[in-house]
Amino acid sequence: MRLNEGFRPTVEAVDKLVQEFNKLPGIGPKSAQRLTYYLLRAPDEQARLLAEALLSLKQETRLCSVCFNVTDSDPCLICCNNQRDRSKICIVEQPQDILALEHTRIYNGLYHVLHGAISPIEGVGADDVRIKELLQRLQDGTVDEVILATNPNLEGEQTALYLNKLISPLGIRVTRLARGLPFGTELEYADDVTLTRAIEGRQEF
Ligand SMILES: [Zn+2]
Repeated sequence: MRLNEGFRPTVEAVDKLVQEFNKLPGIGPKSAQRLTYYLLRAPDEQARLLAEALLSLKQETRLCSVCFNVTDSDPCLICCNNQRDRSKICIVEQPQDILALEHTRIYNGLYHVLHGAISPIEGVGADDVRIKELLQRLQDGTVDEVILATNPNLEGEQTALYLNKLISPLGIRVTRLARGLPFGTELEYADDVTLTRAIEGRQEF
């Protein structure tokens, strides 16, 4: 018997899942394969729960129409909470950043999620993030401080500069998280102590 040299055993269902895992951030082809074969061996129930979780992630979540955080009720729980300080809005790039900041329990104001940062290199302009909606929120005069909590990297700094130029003429205090955060990092990976210091030590922009 001669071996067919170009032969590569492919099973469509396996390949398909490997490909999908491979599209996820931080998952290379090897990890994609490992996850797929893990699930193949796992109990049916586990695969079913994963599939259901993936479907409900898209079906049962939406963005808050006020702050654009991910939510299952609109407005979100933070926007609805009357205990929160409505005179402050903290601007973040991603919904995960809210999780990181909330975890510190130091901040009690509202949030606004931009869903990105301005990046001319990647062709992301001011209209591609939720800046227009932010400016609308600032119009009723209830906000007296905007805290710029965009990431301490090039895009985040550019976005903060741009926002400061738009917001400070409105007579609203604009602050930026303190420099304790190492440059080039992302907020969601900062530890609680560093983040707490960054909020407490925030400075006028
Ligand atoms: Zn909200």
